[in-house]
Amino acid sequence: MPETALQAALKEAERILGGDADRVVHPVPPGANVSMFRPRRVPAVVRPFHAAQVPALVRAFACDETPPLHAVSTGRNWGLGSREAAGHDAVRIELDDLDRIRDLDTEQGWAVVEPGVTQQHLSRALDGTRRMLNVTASSGHSSVLGNALDRGVGLRRQRTEDLVGLEVVLPDGEQVRVGWWPRGEARTAPNPYGLGPSLLHLFTQSNYGIVTAGVVRLLPRPETQRVLRLGFGRDDLSAVVDELRRWHAQGLVHGVLKIYDTTSATSYGTDTGRGGFLAHVSLGGTTAVVDALTEVAVEAALESGLFSDVARSDKEPPADDDVVSRVVEHGYSGSVVHHEEMLRSAVGRHAARVDDEGGGWLFFLPLVPFTGEHVTAALRLLDEVHAATDVRPGATVNALDPDVIDLVVSIRFARTDDETARAHDALDRLYESFTAAGYLPYRLDVDHGGWTDRLVDPSALALGRRLRQVIDPHHVIAPGRYA
Ligand SMILES: Cc1cc2nc3c(=O)[nH]c(=O)nc-3n(C[C@H](O)[C@H](O)[C@H](O)COP(=O)(O)OP(=O)(O)OC[C@H]3O[C@@H](n4cnc5c(N)ncnc54)[C@H](O)[C@@H]3O)c2cc1C
Repeated sequence: MPETALQAALKEAERILGGDADRVVHPVPPGANVSMFRPRRVPAVVRPFHAAQVPALVRAFACDETPPLHAVSTGRNWGLGSREAAGHDAVRIELDDLDRIRDLDTEQGWAVVEPGVTQQHLSRALDGTRRMLNVTASSGHSSVLGNALDRGVGLRRQRTEDLVGLEVVLPDGEQVRVGWWPRGEARTAPNPYGLGPSLLHLFTQSNYGIVTAGVVRLLPRPETQRVLRLGFGRDDLSAVVDELRRWHAQGLVHGVLKIYDTTSATSYGTDTGRGGFLAHVSLGGTTAVVDALTEVAVEAALESGLFSDVARSDKEPPADDDVVSRVVEHGYSGSVVHHEEMLRSAVGRHAARVDDEGGGWLFFLPLVPFTGEHVTAALRLLDEVHAATDVRPGATVNALDPDVIDLVVSIRFARTDDETARAHDALDRLYESFTAAGYLPYRLDVDHGGWTDRLVDPSALALGRRLRQVIDPHHVIAPGRYA
């Protein structure tokens, strides 16, 4: 039988990877994902262990007859599809063995990291320094770059703001650097925009290339870090959101302000008991500044009469069983020491076992204007989904700035046929009702990639496709969730 294009490409891949047959998996048994999206057919998995191998691997697949490539960093995109591609029949290129911190400058505040560098790896490397990583609330074993490439959100800010440079292998195998890169001994200030059209974000939420490294900024570590926890009931939600917006706009909040509703707090491992909401407000700076901010914020909270509980982390550290508050408090300081406890509460398994054995988990991630009226209206949409499906989605309000809320809607379910069907029905309804209300998702899961066509301006879509045709005329990279 003549050799197929795939077989020839895989033989070449094995040669590039030093003849190590374990790094080229073919055929690939169907794999599960924690969200129970239908498993994609995957003709092969390729696992390079050095960034320099990636251009040759891409060239091995750069003909019209070979299947396209789908890159993942650590593949822990739980809730949105994990390591699955948007469609069937893409060869997965797994980059978790590219795990070097290539360069680290705690004076200027940047690190050059490869896709397999995890939050835990980088945050530990910064222990005891004056810099910290903007960590997400996901596992310490998830990728810093993978999350930033999907435009994830950390506890300090959206990860896109941390990204200043990317090293990318284009579909013809050429390796390019976009954005800012260190220049040897010369100390240049990290600036993602450089000169001319900014190319950096051509490669986030994108299938224009495969990223082999990136430069991320490291935030100055506050000399003192404190968290205020404010409890309140649903009747006061609207007024509280408006009050906290004022705090945010006036500089009282340092980082992403988070509000967990009862369902989401329970899902992530904290029993709010009184059936209420809990807001976490991060305060940071010199000790004198944080003391002053604490005084102002506590006084404002008490004066407002909106809060049933006001606790400050230095006086009342979270209880041992308050997983959410512990994760949030340490996360604001760039630490992931408690993150695996929260993952275990959410899906019942350690990172390595989440997709095979974890409890079902879905995310829907819309942006909502930061006003009490809009946040209340958005939560009402969750009530409607609950009434229609009997699935109660959890909500975490993440204030990215004084105007924008990233509303993290999570659905926890048992991976039985019945509960899976209801959870996915609820997810479909969320897409419909939220977009009808103008609350548009900023990240998509693997089954809702088609929504890009519905949500993006047609002229922008057309421009993106023209660029793709120029950069990848042979469709070496698989269609993604966003294109
Ligand atoms: C309990 C829990 C809490 C969570 N909390 C958060 C949170 O606070 N914030 C948040 O954002 N998410 C959160 N998540 C979701 C998710 O786990 C994280 O976003 C995680 O970082 C994504 O997985 P990853 O880092 O392995 O990225 P990957 O899965 O490797 O990558 C994500 C996507 O980016 C693209 N990509 C990755 N690498 C490359 C590359 N080298 N070249 C080109 N494209 C690439 C691909 O499209 C890929 O599908 C949470 C999940 C759970 C279960």
